[in-house]
Amino acid sequence: NASFARKPSWLRRPLPQGPAFTRTQSLLRDLRCNTVCDGANCPNRMECYQRGVAAFLILGRVCTRNCAFCKISPGAPEPVDPQEPDRVAQAAARLGLGHVVVTSVSRDDLPDGGAGHFAAVLGALRRTLAASTLEVLIPDFGGDAASLQTVLDARPDVLNHNLETVPELYAAIRPRAVYARSLALLERAKKNAAPGLTKSGLMLGLGETPQQIRRVLADLAAVGCDIVTIGQYLAPSARHAPIDRYVTPEEFDAWAAYGATLGIPRMHCAPLVRSSYNAGLFV
Ligand code: SF4
Ligand code: SF4
Repeated sequence: NASFARKPSWLRRPLPQGPAFTRTQSLLRDLRCNTVCDGANCPNRMECYQRGVAAFLILGRVCTRNCAFCKISPGAPEPVDPQEPDRVAQAAARLGLGHVVVTSVSRDDLPDGGAGHFAAVLGALRRTLAASTLEVLIPDFGGDAASLQTVLDARPDVLNHNLETVPELYAAIRPRAVYARSLALLERAKKNAAPGLTKSGLMLGLGETPQQIRRVLADLAAVGCDIVTIGQYLAPSARHAPIDRYVTPEEFDAWAAYGATLGIPRMHCAPLVRSSYNAGLFV
């Protein structure tokens, strides 16, 4: 495993911390907004915060699941904060975001999995930032079609749900998720989300084979997924799933080209691509 090997050059970048970074960070802190940038320890955080961009993490910082790749802590879920939608909208407005990305932890404890809260956040964002495009990166809601519909009815411009990895690795990497269920969510979203776009993403470097990746991309093409992101998996700690290999930038380019041949309209593939990285460019 490559977890403790020296990182390849394409994953290393000089990252000076400037005043814009601090401004973004304090604005988010003042409004008590969580971000997945912080929660997941995203390698792009310096760059994104410097540009005044962040991806909101709603419904608390504690997850009811425990995926082997994810830094977000499992534990007792936090109460849903009815003021959170307004605070997220205020923060997005103060950052002047033209494209807003909102994601959440999984809330298997809530009857609707948190779908109503997603809808409330979308509503607050629409009222505050009428001209911005809105993207939600949602959990699977346990496969509940009504919860998904609640989010779709709030009309996000992009409905994102990450498959994360190939089905063969779900038991080890996403033990509480079901590949077919996540794919079905994307299919249902595509049918019911018009004119919104659907989006999904994968991490490479968890032990998947090229044939398994090709199958996932074919599945995404078959359900009409509009945008696919693929990035390098980086283990958050030694307790998380180890890195199986570092994928070269050239291989990411090849996956982008392969997805295009399958008819996927927008492929965004590079080592440091994350679901929300430069998300506004793809809408
Ligand atoms: Fe945040 Fe996404 Fe940028 Fe990472 S890539 S810092 S999660 S906005
Ligand atoms: Fe992390 Fe999402 Fe898995 Fe929760 S469900 S552990 S937030 S990846």
